[in-house]
Amino acid sequence: MNPAFAYREGRLHAEDVPVEDLAARFGTPCYVYSRGALEARYLAFVDAFAGHPVRVCYAVKANGNLAVLDVLAGHGAGFDIVSGGELARVLAAGGDPQRVVFSGACKLEDEIRAALAQDIACFNVESEPELYRLSELAVEAGREARIAIRVNPDVEAGGHRHISTGRREHKFGIALEDAGSLVVRAMTLPGLKLEGVACHIGSQMMALEPLAAALAQVADFARAVQADGVALRHVDAGGGLGIDHHGQVAPTPAQYAEVVLGALAGLGLDIVLEPGRAIAGPAGLLLTRVAYVKQGHGRKFALVDAAMNDLLRPALYEAWHDILPARAGAAPDAEPIDVVGPVCETGDFLGRDRELAVVPGDLLAVADGGAYGFVMSSNYNARPRACEVMVAGAEARVVRRRETTEELWRGEARFKEALP
Ligand SMILES: *Cc1c(COP(=O)(O)O)cnc(C)c1O
Repeated sequence: MNPAFAYREGRLHAEDVPVEDLAARFGTPCYVYSRGALEARYLAFVDAFAGHPVRVCYAVKANGNLAVLDVLAGHGAGFDIVSGGELARVLAAGGDPQRVVFSGACKLEDEIRAALAQDIACFNVESEPELYRLSELAVEAGREARIAIRVNPDVEAGGHRHISTGRREHKFGIALEDAGSLVVRAMTLPGLKLEGVACHIGSQMMALEPLAAALAQVADFARAVQADGVALRHVDAGGGLGIDHHGQVAPTPAQYAEVVLGALAGLGLDIVLEPGRAIAGPAGLLLTRVAYVKQGHGRKFALVDAAMNDLLRPALYEAWHDILPARAGAAPDAEPIDVVGPVCETGDFLGRDRELAVVPGDLLAVADGGAYGFVMSSNYNARPRACEVMVAGAEARVVRRRETTEELWRGEARFKEALP
Protein backbone atom coordinates (compact mmCIF):
# COMPACT_ATOMS: atom_id res chain seq x y z
CA MET A 1 0.00 0.00 0.00
CA ASN A 2 2.95 2.30 0.54
CA PRO A 3 5.63 2.06 -2.12
CA ALA A 4 6.33 5.78 -1.61
CA PHE A 5 9.08 5.02 0.91
CA ALA A 6 11.11 2.00 -0.13
CA TYR A 7 14.70 0.79 -0.26
CA ARG A 8 16.41 0.80 -3.63
CA GLU A 9 19.88 -0.67 -3.69
CA GLY A 10 20.00 -0.43 0.04
CA ARG A 11 19.07 3.24 0.27
CA LEU A 12 15.74 4.45 1.60
CA HIS A 13 13.97 6.61 -0.97
CA ALA A 14 11.09 9.05 -0.80
CA GLU A 15 9.55 8.37 -4.22
CA ASP A 16 12.64 8.71 -6.46
CA VAL A 17 14.85 10.67 -4.08
CA PRO A 18 17.24 9.06 -1.57
CA VAL A 19 16.34 10.40 1.86
CA GLU A 20 20.07 10.98 2.47
CA ASP A 21 19.96 13.57 -0.33
CA LEU A 22 16.97 15.26 1.30
CA ALA A 23 18.74 15.44 4.66
CA ALA A 24 21.87 16.83 3.00
CA ARG A 25 19.85 19.51 1.17
CA PHE A 26 17.34 20.51 3.81
CA GLY A 27 18.90 19.47 7.12
CA THR A 28 17.34 17.53 9.97
CA PRO A 29 14.92 17.15 11.62
CA CYS A 30 12.82 17.27 8.49
CA TYR A 31 9.33 16.04 7.65
CA VAL A 32 9.03 14.48 4.19
CA TYR A 33 5.70 13.94 2.45
CA SER A 34 5.11 11.94 -0.72
CA ARG A 35 2.67 13.65 -3.04
CA GLY A 36 2.01 10.38 -4.83
CA ALA A 37 1.16 8.58 -1.60
CA LEU A 38 -1.23 11.35 -0.52
CA GLU A 39 -3.02 11.16 -3.85
CA ALA A 40 -3.14 7.36 -3.90
CA ARG A 41 -4.43 7.12 -0.35
CA TYR A 42 -7.14 9.75 -0.95
CA LEU A 43 -8.19 8.11 -4.20
CA ALA A 44 -8.33 4.71 -2.45
CA PHE A 45 -11.21 6.08 -0.37
CA VAL A 46 -12.97 7.54 -3.38
CA ASP A 47 -12.55 4.30 -5.35
CA ALA A 48 -13.71 2.12 -2.45
CA PHE A 49 -17.06 3.97 -2.52
CA ALA A 50 -17.28 4.21 -6.31
CA GLY A 51 -20.86 4.16 -7.53
CA HIS A 52 -22.18 5.60 -4.25
CA PRO A 53 -22.73 9.29 -3.56
CA VAL A 54 -19.83 10.00 -1.23
CA ARG A 55 -17.96 13.13 -0.15
CA VAL A 56 -14.51 12.55 1.30
CA CYS A 57 -13.79 15.42 3.69
CA TYR A 58 -10.15 15.08 4.72
CA ALA A 59 -9.62 15.87 8.42
CA VAL A 60 -7.38 18.94 8.29
CA LYS A 61 -6.14 18.47 11.84
CA ALA A 62 -4.12 15.41 10.76
CA ASN A 63 -1.86 17.57 8.58
CA GLY A 64 -2.92 21.05 7.50
CA ASN A 65 0.14 22.08 5.49
CA LEU A 66 -1.04 24.14 2.51
CA ALA A 67 0.75 21.84 0.07
CA VAL A 68 -1.05 18.81 1.50
CA LEU A 69 -4.44 20.54 1.37
CA ASP A 70 -3.75 21.77 -2.16
CA VAL A 71 -2.93 18.27 -3.43
CA LEU A 72 -6.17 16.88 -1.98
CA ALA A 73 -8.29 19.85 -3.10
CA GLY A 74 -6.92 19.30 -6.59
CA HIS A 75 -8.54 15.88 -6.57
CA GLY A 76 -11.88 17.26 -5.39
CA ALA A 77 -11.53 16.57 -1.68
CA GLY A 78 -13.69 18.31 0.87
CA PHE A 79 -12.38 19.14 4.32
CA ASP A 80 -13.37 18.44 7.91
CA ILE A 81 -12.28 21.34 10.12
CA VAL A 82 -12.27 21.79 13.88
CA SER A 83 -11.37 25.50 14.13
CA GLY A 84 -11.46 28.85 12.39
CA GLY A 85 -7.73 28.53 11.82
CA GLU A 86 -8.28 25.34 9.87
CA LEU A 87 -10.97 27.06 7.79
CA ALA A 88 -8.47 29.82 7.01
CA ARG A 89 -5.89 27.21 6.01
CA VAL A 90 -8.35 25.52 3.65
CA LEU A 91 -9.12 28.88 2.03
CA ALA A 92 -5.42 29.81 1.81
CA ALA A 93 -4.76 26.50 0.07
CA GLY A 94 -7.52 27.17 -2.46
CA GLY A 95 -9.96 24.63 -0.99
CA ASP A 96 -13.68 25.01 -1.63
CA PRO A 97 -15.56 26.22 1.48
CA GLN A 98 -18.74 24.68 0.09
CA ARG A 99 -17.12 21.30 0.71
CA VAL A 100 -16.20 22.02 4.32
CA VAL A 101 -17.81 20.37 7.33
CA PHE A 102 -17.15 21.84 10.76
CA SER A 103 -16.75 19.46 13.73
CA GLY A 104 -15.78 20.07 17.33
CA ALA A 105 -17.49 20.27 20.71
CA CYS A 106 -16.63 23.92 21.36
CA LYS A 107 -17.01 26.06 18.23
CA LEU A 108 -16.34 29.64 19.23
CA GLU A 109 -18.45 32.60 18.07
CA ASP A 110 -15.85 34.10 15.74
CA GLU A 111 -15.23 30.70 14.19
CA ILE A 112 -18.95 30.16 13.59
CA ARG A 113 -19.26 33.64 12.06
CA ALA A 114 -16.35 33.00 9.70
CA ALA A 115 -17.81 29.66 8.67
CA LEU A 116 -21.26 31.21 8.08
CA ALA A 117 -19.68 33.95 5.97
CA GLN A 118 -18.06 31.24 3.81
CA ASP A 119 -21.38 29.36 3.59
CA ILE A 120 -19.71 26.03 4.49
CA ALA A 121 -21.44 22.77 3.66
CA CYS A 122 -22.36 21.70 7.17
CA PHE A 123 -21.96 22.30 10.89
CA ASN A 124 -21.81 19.08 12.88
CA VAL A 125 -23.63 20.20 16.02
CA GLU A 126 -22.47 18.60 19.25
CA SER A 127 -24.69 20.13 21.96
CA GLU A 128 -27.95 21.94 22.63
CA PRO A 129 -26.26 25.24 23.62
CA GLU A 130 -24.28 25.11 20.38
CA LEU A 131 -27.53 24.70 18.46
CA TYR A 132 -28.95 27.88 20.05
CA ARG A 133 -25.72 29.81 19.49
CA LEU A 134 -25.58 28.74 15.86
CA SER A 135 -29.21 29.72 15.29
CA GLU A 136 -28.63 33.20 16.74
CA LEU A 137 -25.47 33.80 14.74
CA ALA A 138 -27.02 32.54 11.51
CA VAL A 139 -29.98 34.88 11.92
CA GLU A 140 -27.61 37.74 12.73
CA ALA A 141 -25.60 36.97 9.57
CA GLY A 142 -28.72 36.59 7.44
CA ARG A 143 -27.71 33.03 6.59
CA GLU A 144 -29.17 29.59 6.85
CA ALA A 145 -26.76 27.15 8.51
CA ARG A 146 -26.91 23.59 7.23
CA ILE A 147 -26.45 21.28 10.16
CA ALA A 148 -25.99 17.65 11.12
CA ILE A 149 -26.55 16.29 14.61
CA ARG A 150 -23.44 14.48 15.83
CA VAL A 151 -24.59 11.60 17.97
CA ASN A 152 -22.52 9.62 20.40
CA PRO A 153 -23.40 5.94 20.01
CA ASP A 154 -21.55 4.90 23.20
CA VAL A 155 -19.11 2.42 21.69
CA GLU A 156 -15.39 1.96 22.28
CA ALA A 157 -13.44 2.52 19.08
CA GLY A 158 -10.53 0.42 20.29
CA GLY A 159 -7.72 2.95 19.92
CA HIS A 160 -5.80 4.65 22.74
CA ARG A 161 -8.12 6.08 25.42
CA HIS A 162 -7.01 9.62 24.53
CA ILE A 163 -8.21 9.27 20.93
CA SER A 164 -11.41 7.37 21.61
CA THR A 165 -14.35 9.77 21.32
CA GLY A 166 -17.55 7.76 21.08
CA ARG A 167 -18.35 6.91 24.69
CA ARG A 168 -21.13 8.71 26.52
CA GLU A 169 -18.67 10.06 29.08
CA HIS A 170 -16.67 11.81 26.34
CA LYS A 171 -17.14 15.49 25.57
CA PHE A 172 -18.09 14.81 21.95
CA GLY A 173 -21.49 14.49 20.35
CA ILE A 174 -24.97 14.06 21.78
CA ALA A 175 -26.19 10.91 23.52
CA LEU A 176 -28.67 9.09 21.30
CA GLU A 177 -31.41 9.34 23.93
CA ASP A 178 -31.11 13.15 23.85
CA ALA A 179 -30.74 13.50 20.09
CA GLY A 180 -34.47 13.26 19.34
CA SER A 181 -35.37 16.34 21.35
CA LEU A 182 -32.50 18.20 19.70
CA VAL A 183 -33.97 17.42 16.30
CA VAL A 184 -37.26 18.97 17.41
CA ARG A 185 -35.39 22.11 18.57
CA ALA A 186 -33.44 22.25 15.32
CA MET A 187 -36.68 22.20 13.35
CA THR A 188 -38.19 25.09 15.25
CA LEU A 189 -35.18 27.38 15.63
CA PRO A 190 -34.67 30.00 12.90
CA GLY A 191 -31.60 30.06 10.68
CA LEU A 192 -31.02 26.30 10.72
CA LYS A 193 -31.56 23.60 8.14
CA LEU A 194 -31.18 20.05 9.44
CA GLU A 195 -29.61 17.99 6.67
CA GLY A 196 -27.67 15.21 8.28
CA VAL A 197 -26.69 12.95 11.12
CA ALA A 198 -23.06 12.40 12.02
CA CYS A 199 -20.77 10.41 14.27
CA HIS A 200 -17.04 9.94 14.81
CA ILE A 201 -16.18 7.30 17.35
CA GLY A 202 -12.40 7.64 17.53
CA SER A 203 -9.11 7.24 15.81
CA GLN A 204 -6.68 4.51 14.77
CA MET A 205 -9.43 1.86 14.53
CA MET A 206 -7.86 -1.51 13.73
CA ALA A 207 -11.16 -3.43 13.77
CA LEU A 208 -14.43 -2.47 12.12
CA GLU A 209 -16.94 -4.12 14.46
CA PRO A 210 -17.25 -1.05 16.74
CA LEU A 211 -17.85 1.13 13.70
CA ALA A 212 -20.50 -1.28 12.38
CA ALA A 213 -22.23 -1.22 15.78
CA ALA A 214 -22.09 2.58 15.93
CA LEU A 215 -23.34 3.09 12.39
CA ALA A 216 -26.23 0.68 12.97
CA GLN A 217 -27.39 3.02 15.74
CA VAL A 218 -26.79 6.09 13.60
CA ALA A 219 -28.84 4.51 10.80
CA ASP A 220 -31.71 3.79 13.22
CA PHE A 221 -31.60 7.39 14.37
CA ALA A 222 -31.57 8.67 10.78
CA ARG A 223 -34.62 6.54 9.97
CA ALA A 224 -36.45 7.94 13.01
CA VAL A 225 -35.63 11.50 11.93
CA GLN A 226 -36.80 10.76 8.39
CA ALA A 227 -40.01 9.24 9.79
CA ASP A 228 -40.62 12.55 11.55
CA GLY A 229 -40.69 14.18 8.14
CA VAL A 230 -37.21 15.69 8.02
CA ALA A 231 -35.71 15.54 4.52
CA LEU A 232 -32.18 14.46 5.43
CA ARG A 233 -29.48 14.64 2.78
CA HIS A 234 -26.50 12.89 4.27
CA VAL A 235 -25.03 10.74 6.97
CA ASP A 236 -21.48 11.46 8.12
CA ALA A 237 -19.58 8.34 9.26
CA GLY A 238 -16.63 10.36 10.60
CA GLY A 239 -13.01 9.29 10.27
CA GLY A 240 -10.85 7.03 12.34
CA LEU A 241 -9.69 4.24 10.04
CA GLY A 242 -6.34 3.07 11.40
CA ILE A 243 -3.05 2.49 9.64
CA ASP A 244 -0.67 -0.48 9.75
CA HIS A 245 1.75 -0.24 12.63
CA HIS A 246 3.89 -2.49 14.82
CA GLY A 247 3.11 -5.52 12.70
CA GLN A 248 -0.66 -4.99 12.92
CA VAL A 249 -2.50 -4.63 9.64
CA ALA A 250 -5.33 -2.09 9.41
CA PRO A 251 -8.52 -2.71 7.44
CA THR A 252 -8.28 -1.54 3.84
CA PRO A 253 -10.48 1.26 2.48
CA ALA A 254 -12.39 -1.45 0.57
CA GLN A 255 -13.13 -3.39 3.77
CA TYR A 256 -14.05 -0.15 5.47
CA ALA A 257 -16.39 0.79 2.62
CA GLU A 258 -18.12 -2.58 2.83
CA VAL A 259 -18.94 -2.00 6.52
CA VAL A 260 -20.04 1.62 6.03
CA LEU A 261 -22.17 0.88 2.98
CA GLY A 262 -23.64 -2.20 4.66
CA ALA A 263 -24.63 -0.31 7.79
CA LEU A 264 -26.10 2.66 5.90
CA ALA A 265 -27.78 0.73 3.08
CA GLY A 266 -31.35 1.65 2.27
CA LEU A 267 -31.29 5.11 3.85
CA GLY A 268 -30.99 6.77 0.47
CA LEU A 269 -28.56 9.31 1.90
CA ASP A 270 -25.25 10.69 0.65
CA ILE A 271 -22.28 9.52 2.70
CA VAL A 272 -19.73 11.93 4.13
CA LEU A 273 -16.39 10.60 5.40
CA GLU A 274 -13.75 12.39 7.46
CA PRO A 275 -10.53 10.36 7.16
CA GLY A 276 -7.32 11.98 8.34
CA ARG A 277 -4.66 9.55 9.49
CA ALA A 278 -5.47 6.88 6.90
CA ILE A 279 -4.74 9.38 4.12
CA ALA A 280 -1.81 11.35 5.50
CA GLY A 281 -0.09 9.13 8.11
CA PRO A 282 1.86 6.70 5.91
CA ALA A 283 2.42 9.44 3.31
CA GLY A 284 5.06 11.07 5.49
CA LEU A 285 8.11 10.41 7.58
CA LEU A 286 10.42 12.34 9.87
CA LEU A 287 14.14 12.36 9.14
CA THR A 288 16.49 12.67 12.08
CA ARG A 289 20.23 12.29 12.54
CA VAL A 290 22.04 10.47 15.32
CA ALA A 291 24.15 12.90 17.34
CA TYR A 292 25.48 10.55 20.03
CA VAL A 293 25.35 6.91 21.01
CA LYS A 294 25.40 6.53 24.76
CA GLN A 295 25.84 3.36 26.77
CA GLY A 296 23.78 3.70 29.95
CA HIS A 297 23.37 1.13 32.70
CA GLY A 298 21.30 -1.63 31.19
CA ARG A 299 20.17 0.61 28.34
CA LYS A 300 21.73 1.98 25.23
CA PHE A 301 20.58 5.27 23.73
CA ALA A 302 20.68 6.75 20.27
CA LEU A 303 20.45 10.49 20.94
CA VAL A 304 18.98 12.07 17.83
CA ASP A 305 18.21 15.62 16.71
CA ALA A 306 14.41 15.18 16.61
CA ALA A 307 12.44 15.19 19.84
CA MET A 308 8.98 15.12 21.38
CA ASN A 309 8.51 18.75 20.35
CA ASP A 310 8.79 17.56 16.71
CA LEU A 311 6.81 14.31 17.04
CA LEU A 312 4.70 14.14 20.19
CA ARG A 313 2.83 10.91 19.61
CA PRO A 314 5.25 8.49 21.31
CA ALA A 315 5.38 10.67 24.43
CA LEU A 316 1.66 11.48 24.42
CA TYR A 317 0.12 8.13 23.45
CA GLU A 318 3.04 5.73 23.66
CA ALA A 319 2.45 5.46 19.93
CA TRP A 320 4.64 3.12 17.92
CA HIS A 321 6.44 4.46 14.86
CA ASP A 322 8.79 2.20 12.91
CA ILE A 323 12.31 3.65 12.81
CA LEU A 324 14.24 2.85 9.66
CA PRO A 325 17.89 3.39 8.82
CA ALA A 326 18.50 5.47 5.69
CA ARG A 327 20.96 2.77 4.61
CA ALA A 328 19.77 -0.78 4.87
CA GLY A 329 22.28 -3.52 5.19
CA ALA A 330 23.39 -6.33 7.33
CA ALA A 331 23.53 -5.01 10.86
CA PRO A 332 24.98 -7.96 12.75
CA ASP A 333 25.69 -5.82 15.76
CA ALA A 334 22.10 -4.51 15.99
CA GLU A 335 20.98 -4.45 19.59
CA PRO A 336 18.01 -2.99 21.45
CA ILE A 337 18.43 0.74 21.65
CA ASP A 338 16.20 3.62 22.77
CA VAL A 339 15.89 6.41 20.23
CA VAL A 340 15.55 9.60 22.25
CA GLY A 341 15.76 13.33 21.58
CA PRO A 342 17.41 16.36 23.19
CA VAL A 343 14.36 17.57 25.14
CA CYS A 344 14.81 17.51 28.89
CA GLU A 345 11.98 15.11 29.72
CA THR A 346 12.21 11.39 30.43
CA GLY A 347 9.13 11.03 28.23
CA ASP A 348 11.08 12.38 25.28
CA PHE A 349 11.50 9.31 23.11
CA LEU A 350 10.72 8.33 19.53
CA GLY A 351 11.08 4.59 20.02
CA ARG A 352 12.23 2.17 22.69
CA ASP A 353 14.10 -1.13 22.40
CA ARG A 354 14.64 -0.91 18.65
CA GLU A 355 16.93 -3.37 16.89
CA LEU A 356 19.21 -0.85 15.24
CA ALA A 357 22.94 -0.66 14.63
CA VAL A 358 23.75 3.03 14.68
CA VAL A 359 26.78 5.23 14.94
CA PRO A 360 26.85 9.01 15.31
CA GLY A 361 26.03 10.74 12.03
CA ASP A 362 23.64 8.02 10.84
CA LEU A 363 20.36 9.14 9.36
CA LEU A 364 17.09 7.58 10.57
CA ALA A 365 13.55 7.83 9.25
CA VAL A 366 10.60 7.73 11.63
CA ALA A 367 7.73 6.19 9.67
CA ASP A 368 4.08 7.27 9.56
CA GLY A 369 4.94 10.89 10.27
CA GLY A 370 2.42 12.35 7.81
CA ALA A 371 -0.45 12.64 10.30
CA TYR A 372 -0.45 14.19 13.78
CA GLY A 373 3.25 14.89 13.34
CA PHE A 374 4.24 18.43 12.42
CA VAL A 375 0.78 19.76 13.40
CA MET A 376 1.41 18.78 17.02
CA SER A 377 4.93 20.19 17.09
CA SER A 378 5.93 22.99 19.43
CA ASN A 379 8.89 25.17 20.36
CA TYR A 380 9.37 23.49 23.74
CA ASN A 381 12.98 23.78 24.92
CA ALA A 382 13.32 26.71 22.46
CA ARG A 383 13.67 24.37 19.52
CA PRO A 384 12.80 25.88 16.13
CA ARG A 385 10.20 23.82 14.31
CA ALA A 386 11.39 21.42 11.61
CA CYS A 387 11.02 22.06 7.91
CA GLU A 388 8.50 20.21 5.76
CA VAL A 389 9.40 18.91 2.32
CA MET A 390 7.15 17.42 -0.34
CA VAL A 391 8.51 14.98 -2.90
CA ALA A 392 6.91 14.22 -6.26
CA GLY A 393 8.92 11.80 -8.38
CA ALA A 394 12.48 13.08 -8.51
CA GLU A 395 11.53 16.56 -7.37
CA ALA A 396 11.62 17.80 -3.77
CA ARG A 397 10.39 21.18 -2.58
CA VAL A 398 10.28 22.89 0.78
CA VAL A 399 6.61 23.39 1.63
CA ARG A 400 7.41 24.98 4.98
CA ARG A 401 10.85 26.27 5.73
CA ARG A 402 12.63 25.54 8.98
CA GLU A 403 11.98 28.15 11.65
CA THR A 404 14.85 30.49 12.42
CA THR A 405 16.16 31.09 15.91
CA GLU A 406 14.83 34.69 15.83
CA GLU A 407 11.34 33.39 15.10
CA LEU A 408 11.38 31.71 18.50
CA TRP A 409 10.55 35.06 20.12
CA ARG A 410 8.47 36.55 17.32
CA GLY A 411 5.69 38.62 18.85
CA GLU A 412 7.37 38.88 22.25
CA ALA A 413 8.68 42.05 23.90
CA ARG A 414 10.54 42.96 27.05
CA PHE A 415 8.16 44.58 29.56
CA LYS A 416 9.89 47.96 29.39
CA GLU A 417 9.39 48.02 25.61
CA ALA A 418 6.01 46.32 25.44
CA LEU A 419 2.87 48.10 24.32
CA PRO A 420 0.32 48.67 27.08
C1 LIG B 1 -9.86 13.78 14.35
C2 LIG B 1 -11.16 13.67 13.64
C3 LIG B 1 -11.25 13.01 12.42
C4 LIG B 1 -10.07 12.32 11.76
O1 LIG B 1 -9.68 11.20 12.48
P1 LIG B 1 -8.59 10.21 11.85
O2 LIG B 1 -8.41 9.18 12.88
O3 LIG B 1 -7.37 11.00 11.60
O4 LIG B 1 -9.17 9.65 10.59
C5 LIG B 1 -12.46 12.99 11.77
N1 LIG B 1 -13.56 13.58 12.31
C6 LIG B 1 -13.52 14.22 13.50
C7 LIG B 1 -14.75 14.85 14.03
C8 LIG B 1 -12.32 14.28 14.20
O5 LIG B 1 -12.29 14.90 15.39
